[in-house]
Amino acid sequence: QRSVGVLSLQGSFNEHIAALRRLGVMGVEVRKAEHLEKIGSLIIPGGESTTMAKLAHYHNLFPALREFVKSGRPVWGTCAGLIFLADRAIGQKNGGQEFIGGLDCTVHRNFFGSQLQSFEIDLLVSKLAAKEGGPASFRGVFIRAPAIMEVGPDVEVLADYTVHVNDSTNAKIVTSLRGLEDKKSSSTQKVVVAARQGNLLVTAFHPELTKDTRWHSFFLKMSVENNEEHGLSISKEVAS
Ligand code: GLN
Repeated sequence: QRSVGVLSLQGSFNEHIAALRRLGVMGVEVRKAEHLEKIGSLIIPGGESTTMAKLAHYHNLFPALREFVKSGRPVWGTCAGLIFLADRAIGQKNGGQEFIGGLDCTVHRNFFGSQLQSFEIDLLVSKLAAKEGGPASFRGVFIRAPAIMEVGPDVEVLADYTVHVNDSTNAKIVTSLRGLEDKKSSSTQKVVVAARQGNLLVTAFHPELTKDTRWHSFFLKMSVENNEEHGLSISKEVAS
């Protein structure tokens, strides 16, 4: 039996483990390369990707993480985790950061701006089961969030978002709270905020910071199907 691992170096790993527990699945903290041998799928949480990369480098985790991705087992990266899984990156503070790679896309770090530009928005996600009677929307929590600027042919876009960009300051006008006059001198830009390529799933926002476990269910389904193909089953035991 295999468990779902959560990379637990830095960031919102406890929140992911709590979300898995709500679904009756025990998340296993991954801190060393040998921990990856016992798990059937992996979540890479949000946090600060430079710090997380430094810690992963210090613990010599990158070769094992790349092996894990190549082995075909499911990996889900949220926010900083998305940055880790991207093949290419642009944007501020891009220098020096090590990547796992695997997802054929270009990510823009801190696309939406700084902490002050963090926001929440309802996203349309047709792949998620709709709540009773309601549309298939999901409350996206974006914190210093990255965005995917372009994807390769094998990448399936699961959610996108159209943002207004102020033509003179380049600031992103992300909520309707800001004045319409702001929008007059702005152009729109469509970016990808959730995507899948085979065993890799990425979200630019933080499902683990909401009560809604549909993205975790989606990833568990990917994990169960993938592990069954490999003759494994996902452990349903929850630590008491
Ligand atoms: N912008 C952050 C980074 O580059 C990611 C933010 C997050 O994970 N909430 O690391």
